[in-house]
Amino acid sequence: MRAPIIGITTETNDQNEYVLPVEYANAIRKAGGIPLLLPPGEPRLDELLTLIDGLILSGGGDIDPLHYGSRGHPEVYMIDPARDEMELALARQAAGGDLPTLGVCRGAQLINVALGGTLVEHLPDEIDNTIAHRMEPRGAVPHPVTIAGNSQLAEVIGEEVVVGASWHHQAIRTPAPRLEVVARAADGTIEAVELPGHPWLLAVQWHPEITAGEDPVQQRLFDALVEAARERMRAR
Ligand code: MN
Repeated sequence: MRAPIIGITTETNDQNEYVLPVEYANAIRKAGGIPLLLPPGEPRLDELLTLIDGLILSGGGDIDPLHYGSRGHPEVYMIDPARDEMELALARQAAGGDLPTLGVCRGAQLINVALGGTLVEHLPDEIDNTIAHRMEPRGAVPHPVTIAGNSQLAEVIGEEVVVGASWHHQAIRTPAPRLEVVARAADGTIEAVELPGHPWLLAVQWHPEITAGEDPVQQRLFDALVEAARERMRAR
């Protein structure tokens, strides 16, 4: 059997280039999978979905607040309508089927919006400042999150508290009806959700790819995604 192919969504930068941090591909290769980068704007999503065995909805700019019934916020940045459209469709397809899917940061927010949830437009407006969720103006910073026992995430991570690289100014506000909140920061911020009944759909607000190279705990998320993709291939 060939190695599982993991589609990873990408973004269009201000130079009109498709970009993705290399760490995502590194973590998938280390897990034994083949990364396949997916640029925004694909009109043949159904055909694309026949090519991949797993999916990562990657980090990046903010989702257009219109998608969750918000009037927006001055701090909302890097909106990409083509990326939103494709990823919302991918997330709905993944959630409605059995495609193993990992949401990272924006990806977690996106899965939530795709399934009917809402977002905090700008976290610093709404939380006490005991925890930095990003370095100002932009940069990753570590903070601990507490994982709910009996969750799929707890099974994958194997620890009750995990320290991940955090780099976000938004977060899930109202979780989508089908999603279960499975991790929070000490200030109450939702840091992970999963989809009960789905074989493997996890979404984390932090960036496991940033530290997966040196932190085996973070690498477990990618290992488990690739393993779930392998299981799905075996079952078909
Ligand atoms: Mn955080």
